[in-house]
Amino acid sequence: MLDIEKIRADFPILAREVNGKPLVYLDNGASAQKPQVVIDAITTAYSHEYANVHRGLHYLSNLATEKYESVRGTIARFLGVADETQIVLNSGTTEGINMVAYGWAMPRMEAGDEILLSVMEHHANIVPWHFLRERQGVALKWVDVDSRGHLDPQKIIDAITPKTKLIAITHLSNVLGTKVDVKAICDAAREKGVPVLIDGSQAAVHMPVDLDDIGCDFYAITGHKLYGPSGSGAIFVKKERLAEMRPFMGGGDMIRDVSKDEVTYNDPPMKFEAGTPGIVQTIGLGVALDYMMGVGMTTIAQYEDDLSRYAQTRLSGLNWLSVQGTTPDKAAIFSFTMEGAAHAHDISTILDKKGVAVRAGHHCAGPLMDHLGVTATCRASFAMYNTRAEVDSLIDALELAHELFG
Ligand code: PLP
Repeated sequence: MLDIEKIRADFPILAREVNGKPLVYLDNGASAQKPQVVIDAITTAYSHEYANVHRGLHYLSNLATEKYESVRGTIARFLGVADETQIVLNSGTTEGINMVAYGWAMPRMEAGDEILLSVMEHHANIVPWHFLRERQGVALKWVDVDSRGHLDPQKIIDAITPKTKLIAITHLSNVLGTKVDVKAICDAAREKGVPVLIDGSQAAVHMPVDLDDIGCDFYAITGHKLYGPSGSGAIFVKKERLAEMRPFMGGGDMIRDVSKDEVTYNDPPMKFEAGTPGIVQTIGLGVALDYMMGVGMTTIAQYEDDLSRYAQTRLSGLNWLSVQGTTPDKAAIFSFTMEGAAHAHDISTILDKKGVAVRAGHHCAGPLMDHLGVTATCRASFAMYNTRAEVDSLIDALELAHELFG
């Protein structure tokens, strides 16, 4: 069982007040807070262990390299990947997906080829594919969710045609909390020879991820949502795809030899890691993942599932609130509107006065907003350190907003 008091004590920011009220931080979908171990690791790295990586023959460079490189193995363990050379380190999901778009998809797609997407995708898993549409005439094909926000994997599978060159899909919606059965999609896609890229930015935070079982070709994660520093992240790339991929960025570290007339590249994954990386950010991410695995991903998932059910029950009691995404097993991410009464920004301002931090806007999910017929929602997104009492605080603050605007 998750020891919530201990977990909360590990995150120093949770002890602070906002607007004279205890902070209720429900903007974890945007970025999660950091435990003291991560903050300490960053301080230690800069205070005692900092140098550039891969380049030096001196003590500190070797120490920094060792710490930085060990994170590759930590990420592999976290994602259930046996061979850590399939983990490319980067600054986050946006970089990971752009690397695949430029390095893998662009050279092998032409006009008329199709990329399948769900309507729930984050802009980070849309805009890089629009580049291919604009520049190479690739067609983007969209699969809808039903009225509960459920995505039927069969709808994706049925949409595969001989022209489908990639399925790019989220594992967990950052707006609706919907979990997607990506394994079913990968199983069917593999039979049809279609590679699958999964945006794991949200899923990896809330549930155990086993890529050996899922069997995808690409899986992107972003460190700042995983209780780690911003500017850290990684993408899993299956060995065969690594061999097919061209480097997206050129520079130091990713080469073996450079002359006036020629360049030869380092072996993957280094071939795809040009320039000085986010050294300390990545070290911090490793500590964050160790922290999560120490708590236990199943323990986190069970705790958050209970929180999600409690929040669903309490929110459904507010008959003046429209909650988007009602699949029963959804993650604890709730988007809502007060139709006709108040704009999402005004609701979030009232909640903030009560110390409750939520996000308001389109959540970088334009096609989903169109599908839902809204321009913006408020989003309360929970983390492992949130409590039922904080769900109650959210409800109280919403009732106040309803009194004011309703
Ligand atoms: N995909 C999803 C589902 C997200 O929620 C986010 C962040 O909001 C991203 C991608 C982009 O992540 P980053 O901005 O860290 O690259």
